[in-house]
Amino acid sequence: MPPLQKVNLGFFPTPLHPLKRIGKNLPYELWIKRDDQTGLATGGNKCRKLEYLLAEALAQGADTVLTAGAQQSNHCRQTAAACAALGLECHLMLGGVPPAVETGNLKLSRLLGAHIHFTGQNRKGEALPALYRRLQDAGKRCYVIPYGGSNALGACGFVEAMAELKEQTAQLALSFDYIFFASSSGGTQAGMMVGSALYRLPARLMPVRIDKEPVEGAALQKKVNDLVAALAPLWGIQADNIPPCPLLTDYDAAGYAVLTPQEQRLMEEVARTEGILLDPVYTARAFYAMYDHMKKKQLPEGSRVLFWHTGGIPALWAY
Ligand SMILES: *Cc1c(COP(=O)(O)O)cnc(C)c1O
Repeated sequence: MPPLQKVNLGFFPTPLHPLKRIGKNLPYELWIKRDDQTGLATGGNKCRKLEYLLAEALAQGADTVLTAGAQQSNHCRQTAAACAALGLECHLMLGGVPPAVETGNLKLSRLLGAHIHFTGQNRKGEALPALYRRLQDAGKRCYVIPYGGSNALGACGFVEAMAELKEQTAQLALSFDYIFFASSSGGTQAGMMVGSALYRLPARLMPVRIDKEPVEGAALQKKVNDLVAALAPLWGIQADNIPPCPLLTDYDAAGYAVLTPQEQRLMEEVARTEGILLDPVYTARAFYAMYDHMKKKQLPEGSRVLFWHTGGIPALWAY
């Protein structure tokens, strides 16, 4: 029972299939969930959030959508695509200065008709309120989507994703022991946590932290906890009943959007053994973390492991 309205933007359910070659010498059964195939101008996990967020925008009578991110933001590109499909004006606030050549997600966002504002040091929406006032004063009816689409409403998309997974696994008569995925603005993780509890999925969630934090840092963990506290009641459950889900924090040392040589090698191996593209910011890192656990036998032998591919392909052109 989705408690809230949504608008159809993507292709669901996304495919779920085994990976037969990449881990064949390891004592695990590896599967992949293809949220790189959600639609919205080359796919990605933000589509699930946008179905809820943009339904609210439409319900409020908005004609203009504002959001923010890095220049290679997949969230911004998917928002631009969704706005195009719904006939909404889209404004993106992207970190940094205008590049000499626009490529990857930035090029696509431009192609999709978004209005692009470069914001220097700020890539997490710090300047959104000022743009909001300017556009409202100009007579637009604005709807603001936070960085990464990660508020409780956006995270509903990933509560529902767990119902989708449950149905797919029931049809295949299997269940997963672990689910590895990239976690960055927290909405995907919070939604999966609430959805796993709600639909009683047995898999242990293995969120891989992508953005570097100080050693003692816990900003993302706190954000996830806050999101879960706001999200769980929307689905009729108490946040106290959601088991904690610690982030894997050993893989972010190189920093956000820095592709390490190990990640690059594995990205090439996945491409060459499975014909599957990982992205250089999120999924290469998350897949590496998963593969590292498998190679070091940090999971019990025979475990069935799912990699949740969250998309991000256009960033490949920016590397
Ligand atoms: C945004 C994004 C993520 C992280 O999802 P959050 O909900 O922000 O944690 C992972 N992978 C890709 C490709 C993304 O674009």
